Amino acid sequence: MSEPPSSYLLERAWVDGVVREDVLVEMADGQITRVTPAPLGSQNPHDTPGGHGVSCGDRLSAAEPRSLRGLTLPGLTNDHSHAFHRALRGRTQRGRGTFWTWREQMYAVAERLTPDTYFTLARATFREMVAAGYTSVSEFHYLHDPEPQTGDALRAAAAEAGIRLTLLDACYVSSGFGAPPEGVQVRYSDGTAERWAERVGDGPAAIHSVRAVPRDQLHVFRGRSPLHVHLSEQQAENDACLAAYGVTPTRLLHEEGLLGPGTTVVHATHLTDDDIALLGSTRTNVCITPTTERDLADGIGPARRLADAGCRISVGSDSHAVVDPFEELRALEMDERLATRTRGHWSAAELLAIGAGGRGIAVGEPADLVTIGTTSTRTAGTGADENTAVFAATAADVTHVVVDGRVVATADDHDEIGRELADAMEALWPRP
Ligand SMILES: [Zn+2]
Repeated sequence: MSEPPSSYLLERAWVDGVVREDVLVEMADGQITRVTPAPLGSQNPHDTPGGHGVSCGDRLSAAEPRSLRGLTLPGLTNDHSHAFHRALRGRTQRGRGTFWTWREQMYAVAERLTPDTYFTLARATFREMVAAGYTSVSEFHYLHDPEPQTGDALRAAAAEAGIRLTLLDACYVSSGFGAPPEGVQVRYSDGTAERWAERVGDGPAAIHSVRAVPRDQLHVFRGRSPLHVHLSEQQAENDACLAAYGVTPTRLLHEEGLLGPGTTVVHATHLTDDDIALLGSTRTNVCITPTTERDLADGIGPARRLADAGCRISVGSDSHAVVDPFEELRALEMDERLATRTRGHWSAAELLAIGAGGRGIAVGEPADLVTIGTTSTRTAGTGADENTAVFAATAADVTHVVVDGRVVATADDHDEIGRELADAMEALWPRP
């Protein structure tokens, strides 16, 4: 980590929902303390000293700001991750299979992980995320042992990578409706939700899914926030839930008092009209993971309808088949286009606001900044505005990332992160 400058002069920045030029951002103690854009309509301010209404001398009088070329965005949020799934990329995509055969391959990797190899893999994965523009991550952690080593490994990995971490300890006490954990799943299980709660205390929580916690134990999670839960990713989960309890997974969570603004449901792919109304009226958050849902042939969740019903939408890289916030965001629009054969469900500004988790480059916000190049082969000539970020850029265009006031990644780091990822995989996948 290099010593952070306390101010940046941004060539272009997305501020208050529009792109402004020549924005001075000052930060202290991990927060943005001042944002001074050049007045709208002013051109080439460096060529005309004093042309801002505030003189350059005044604006730049404190410590010399670091100039960042390109388009700077607020930090982007990865609201759903299983760090160790990064080991599956390029391996589980081969051939045919289903979600359920993918799950077998995922368990095979899980079985091989130790706290040490988990740390190495998670640090490399979190570094890849940061370099892609994700400045915070909700890690949905179900691969815990009775002892807390793997959670500690994740915390240490996130700290070294410089990403903000919300570690959601997931309760997983049954492998299906009425079925006990089997094989490596035993490693995830605390036995009962009550024993899970004793171990976790008041920390951020997750219910793996309505498959993984019996109905008569769901009361343990009432009132907990944040609470995340995988929901209706597969039609098979809905069918089994209906057979077991006579209601959909969404209605089950509602009847148990578990929906609301403190809850995030992940996927929400196969929903009824009643499910959408329940999630919206309770202001439940919905995390969509388009690149994972695409990879696993899950289907397309009704993100637009959920937003219109009252849900806050977020995105996550989940299985890390792809780690690219721009790809997740544009997929919200592109998938709806394929599903409906109409365009224009989301504007680029709406999608960018989703990516930023509602935060912005503004006073009082965390000192998190993501800069993308606007002259690459992908982004050149695309307008250098929010449409460039959402509809043209990729993770490879991220040139500079600040988290909590510290520089945590630049374009120069990509090769080194690649080597770290390769080394982490070497320890997990024996050479043929
Ligand atoms: Zn997941």
